[in-house]
Amino acid sequence: MNVQPDLEFIRTLKEAGGDTLKKCYQCATCSVMCPLSKEGKPFPRKEMIWSQWGMKEKLVTDPDVFLCHQCGDCTVNCPRGAKPGDVLSAIRSYAYTFYGWPAPLAKLASSAKGLPILIGIPVLVIFIMWMLSGAMHIPTREEFASHGYQQFFGTWDFYWYAKNIFFIVLIMVPSLGLGLFSAFKGITKMWKSMCEDAGLNKEYRPSIGQFTQEFLWPSVVEIVKHSRFRECTSSIDRVRGHLPLMLAFIGLFIVTCWSLLKNDVLGLIWPSLHGPLPLTDPFKLLANVSAIALLFGIGVLWSNRKKAESELNTLPTFYDWFLIWEITAVGVTGLGAELLRWAGMPVLGYIVYFLHLVSIMMLFLYLPYTKFAHLIYRTGAYTFEKYRESVYGKNQ
Ligand code: SF4
Ligand code: SF4
Repeated sequence: MNVQPDLEFIRTLKEAGGDTLKKCYQCATCSVMCPLSKEGKPFPRKEMIWSQWGMKEKLVTDPDVFLCHQCGDCTVNCPRGAKPGDVLSAIRSYAYTFYGWPAPLAKLASSAKGLPILIGIPVLVIFIMWMLSGAMHIPTREEFASHGYQQFFGTWDFYWYAKNIFFIVLIMVPSLGLGLFSAFKGITKMWKSMCEDAGLNKEYRPSIGQFTQEFLWPSVVEIVKHSRFRECTSSIDRVRGHLPLMLAFIGLFIVTCWSLLKNDVLGLIWPSLHGPLPLTDPFKLLANVSAIALLFGIGVLWSNRKKAESELNTLPTFYDWFLIWEITAVGVTGLGAELLRWAGMPVLGYIVYFLHLVSIMMLFLYLPYTKFAHLIYRTGAYTFEKYRESVYGKNQ
């Protein structure tokens, strides 16, 4: 086989936390120790040699890279200190940029150098929207007590649709839309490349319903239950942080959907439904419990990451920390804005609420390029693994 090493790719991996990849001498201890590696298709030994050889195309189309949960079992047991878990993590971070669209935005989100622009974009957009809305004033304590943040973007006489909702939808829906569209482009490109690499038959394919029922849905269930994640031993603590975090996102997603339905659909029929939720409302309770779970989960992941950096000598990377900072910002500003509302402090409350909107927009907009993308790409890899093992993968 004629190997043309991609030196630029190797350098990128080293900078993204895979600085130890050259230490590997192919003993295969890691593949034996990995609780998720399957007989017949072991990893991460083969990924280590591909990384050393700079075989970019091979690695970005390798589902095993995305099946890894970065538990560190392999890293702990590697006799050479080659840290295969970190190398796989560096490959994943490269893959999110590789599949990301639009490419300049994906590149920008891949390193700390882009951080001022990454923060600057949502700050500017939301500030301009605030100016355009004409609502540029801080409410009195009385106004703040009765409306909370419901008039952040002002109010108008149009009874059927609140001005605040109009502006929030105007900002967040395109941000989320771009994030989801980019994620869709990325995952379809990855799927196609994986099929080509595995030589799967394009003619013999299941229907959409069959595909969902047999491959996609079981993968989603497995991920939500954290079944594979629980098999990891060295850092089982990560499950204790990851699970509440994931449930918190599901809780906040339900609250957001209800809020949109209440304000944008039901509110058109019963305008009295516009306005802040009372603290005793079940959806408000769900939102608050989810915010606490989010902060708890991110706290556990934060301390685990710190522990890994000190005990396993893992490099602190922008890829790992950016998502932790982002989620912390969403949780802290969300809870902070609510506490300031209770405390009746409009000036500080409005500033923190502004930052809350900025952090949410960042989460939506950069979803497909940051570590958050593992949600999509890992689901894709789980699904592909089942598909490849099925009659559709074998019947060639
Ligand atoms: S990464 Fe470590 S454990 Fe795995 S094959 Fe290389 S030297 Fe062996
Ligand atoms: S980090 Fe864990 S899941 Fe990933 S390859 Fe190593 S042992 Fe396997």
